[in-house]
Amino acid sequence: MDLRLSEREEAFRAEARAWLAAHVPKKPLPSSGSRDGFAAHVAWEKELFAAGWSVVAWPKAYGGREASIVEWLLFEEEYYLAGAPNRVTQNGIFLLAPALFEFGTDEQKERLLRPMAAADVLWAQGWSEPNAGSDLAAVASTATRTDGGWLLRGQKTWSTRAAFCHALHGLFRTDPSAPRHKGLTYFLVPLDAPGVRVSGFRRLDGDEDFAEVFFDDVFVPDRDVLGAVHQGWKVAMATTGSERGLTLRSPGRFLATADRLIDLYRRNRQAADPRLRDAVIQAWMDAQAYQLFTLQAVSRLAEGKALGAESSINKIAWSEMDLRLHETALEVLGPLAELTGDAPDAVDGGTWIKGFQFALAGPIYAGTNEIQRNVIAERLLGLPKE
Ligand SMILES: Cc1cc2nc3c(=O)[nH]c(=O)nc-3n(C[C@H](O)[C@H](O)[C@H](O)COP(=O)(O)OP(=O)(O)OC[C@H]3O[C@@H](n4cnc5c(N)ncnc54)[C@H](O)[C@@H]3O)c2cc1C
Repeated sequence: MDLRLSEREEAFRAEARAWLAAHVPKKPLPSSGSRDGFAAHVAWEKELFAAGWSVVAWPKAYGGREASIVEWLLFEEEYYLAGAPNRVTQNGIFLLAPALFEFGTDEQKERLLRPMAAADVLWAQGWSEPNAGSDLAAVASTATRTDGGWLLRGQKTWSTRAAFCHALHGLFRTDPSAPRHKGLTYFLVPLDAPGVRVSGFRRLDGDEDFAEVFFDDVFVPDRDVLGAVHQGWKVAMATTGSERGLTLRSPGRFLATADRLIDLYRRNRQAADPRLRDAVIQAWMDAQAYQLFTLQAVSRLAEGKALGAESSINKIAWSEMDLRLHETALEVLGPLAELTGDAPDAVDGGTWIKGFQFALAGPIYAGTNEIQRNVIAERLLGLPKE
């Protein structure tokens, strides 16, 4: 493939770079996992949206600028290189939106997409339950038919940012007599609806945006069913392509981390042993390789092909690479690695240890890596089923 950028793409990159250089907060925002930090991130999202950089690849009608997928990748690269804040809109714009574009009615797209991109309505993903994680088809929360809509009962858990969000998208069982995958429906639920109880809890790294969400006969009107009734599995599987594949973890994020790692290594010459130097170089090469792999996938998408089960390869690649990048940084830092942001001698504001703690979760969320290996074995390599 031809890796050279067109004039239009170069111009797009330059425009994005200039805007980000002028607007990215000079001092990093407090963690989006705290209430104050979340509010600061929402304010940043609104600034991004007002300038047309929130959802660059979306149609203009919904606040986008109709950028191509290559331009979107360039924007992501510039975004992370500029050290811009993490996106608290991501469970909406990267996970729900692709499903809305594919399965949503015109009325739903009209009503939901713009407020999502503008950070007026923040979305959480409600798939996992105490007994349905890897085995997602075991979802036991139910939705039963009532006049004009549905009544939701049950519990979701591990819902990122749900403690601070306005709405949740997720799977509920609408036909308990059907085979497991066939009796589910995809619902869109405001978190302030009567009967919803959101119970936040703290994570290992101190963030408190995680939540369990309880539903006690919560009324959801028919207009908030996404896709056909009993076809929720199909909607969810379309979303997993985005979550494991391109949109949630674009290469820009890791290219920027690899650059920061090299900078960290340069600043810590005392750590200059050959094994560590090799690990830093390997981390940089891994990030470059992931970018090339992504460009290959993008070329295939541009030819009208789907990613499908191959997004599982992507998921393993980025999550394991992120861990290695952070583990190498901790080794470079030596004993200083353990200092968190509030310690006076913390290097880079303690971001490496916090990043490491989050990277530990990478092989778990978006479907564990063991499950991705099963998918690769069975669907890509044709090995016998487990
Ligand atoms: C940081 C973070 C954010 C998250 N955010 C969300 C969110 O926003 N919304 C949401 O709905 N969920 C979210 N999750 C939940 C996540 O999707 C689940 O944790 C994940 O799917 C695993 O499910 P589980 O925790 O129930 O583990 P289990 O499914 O119980 O798995 C336990 C272990 O057994 C292994 N295992 C299970 N089945 C198999 C098998 N068939 N073959 C081989 N190994 C197997 C798993 O790989 C894992 O190591 C998040 C999780 C984390 C860590």
